[in-house]
Amino acid sequence: MADKRKPWAEPYKIKVVEPVKMTTREYRIEKIKEAGYNTFLLRSEDVYIDLLTDSGTNAMSDYQWAGMMLGDEAYAGSKNFYYLESNVQKFYGYKYLVPTHQGRGAEHLLSQSLIKDGDFIPGNMYFTTTRLHQELAGGTFVDVIIDEAHIPDNLHPFKGNVDIQKFEDLIKKVGADKIPYISVAGTVNMAGGQPVSMQNIKEVKQMADKYGIKVVLDATRAIENAFFIKEREPGYADKSIEEILFEFCSYTDAATMSGKKDLLVNIGGFVAVNDWELFEELRNLVVVYEGLHTYGGLAGRDMEAMARGMEEAVQYDHIRSRIKQIEYFGNQLIENNIPIVKPIGGHAVFLDARAFYDHIPQINFPAQKLAADLYIESGVRAMERGIVSAGRNRETGDHNYPKLELVRLTFPRRVYMQSHLDVTAYSVNELYEKRHQAKGLKMVYEPKYLRFFQARFEELS
Ligand SMILES: *Cc1c(COP(=O)(O)O)cnc(C)c1O
Repeated sequence: MADKRKPWAEPYKIKVVEPVKMTTREYRIEKIKEAGYNTFLLRSEDVYIDLLTDSGTNAMSDYQWAGMMLGDEAYAGSKNFYYLESNVQKFYGYKYLVPTHQGRGAEHLLSQSLIKDGDFIPGNMYFTTTRLHQELAGGTFVDVIIDEAHIPDNLHPFKGNVDIQKFEDLIKKVGADKIPYISVAGTVNMAGGQPVSMQNIKEVKQMADKYGIKVVLDATRAIENAFFIKEREPGYADKSIEEILFEFCSYTDAATMSGKKDLLVNIGGFVAVNDWELFEELRNLVVVYEGLHTYGGLAGRDMEAMARGMEEAVQYDHIRSRIKQIEYFGNQLIENNIPIVKPIGGHAVFLDARAFYDHIPQINFPAQKLAADLYIESGVRAMERGIVSAGRNRETGDHNYPKLELVRLTFPRRVYMQSHLDVTAYSVNELYEKRHQAKGLKMVYEPKYLRFFQARFEELS
């Protein structure tokens, strides 16, 4: 056991600083009202500690910034593309690469290429943009994650796992020819950053192979997933992150990637596949929506930064610090009995808003309100992952009522120090102590797509 008293510090030091604005409570009350109680509509300059997302908010290293100067901004055949391609082959193992401006660009191309009207796409819980692109391509998403994933305090070590029985039941029900692929994400963002085990992805691959179904990995956080496998799965403690990542991907046929997460950049993504024909289709489509297949909506320098970020992202000290920072924060909340999703995930700590504000019914948006209240309390920005994010049922038009009603505090990579986490934990605790005073919200503006980004609310009187 490690000595608990031994101090620990982040494995990086500061070379450039970005000052942040300190604000008053009165100021923040005014700003959150103006923003319709939606933290997405706040201006970032009014935020003190920004835990809205870990997407594109990474701090790049001096090695990456140096690479930015080596951008080959040729329209076609940029050398940064070939470097990125060779790193994707080396670390993820897929043969062919199509870069895209970010993850959803990759999801769009892949969904359009593989899904026909009336198809079903099983997945280990949904991700907002992934599911939307499946639906826009004519598919229907079916959740096949294990039941434990929907229970906030269930301590299953791999809560992201696919329920193989649910997967097979779906195949038997709709027929394998209606299922072009199963979509597996590791870690699972919406379940609280929970990992998928190596054993499980192997079993998924076996079942999929039996019926001629492809396995598509959402590789956005596959490096964080690899760290959990190393820590929790028998037989992997002595394997490197690099080896685990490579093996994991070997049980899948293709991957979409948002480089804005694991890969330590501010913009970028890709779709990578093993099948030549699928590659041809993607390479053709990317020209329509993103740009030529050797840049896909990115500058040469962005591809260079992503290729270099990949090399840093698989370093054990980096990924360990990344995940342990979050554990450090989550443990402070647990010590104060604050209801959070357990085990603590790989990129975020999720407050269980249903339990936190147990007097506010789901239809009055408890998680939306909790995120707004946290901003008022301390200037910390988090986001809702509950009924607002879940959107409406396409057939009935009613809200989807997810079991999980959460507020996500998400940690940008290499941006904040432990002291920022201490301040945040203190603020959550303050809020918890006066939780009974909180009132719910009503929605006063609802956009049609991905409503959580732009919806507006008012406080109930
Ligand atoms: C962020 C994310 C995406 C979408 O990627 P963008 O770069 O935001 O378009 C897809 N899947 C998962 C799991 C993500 O976290």
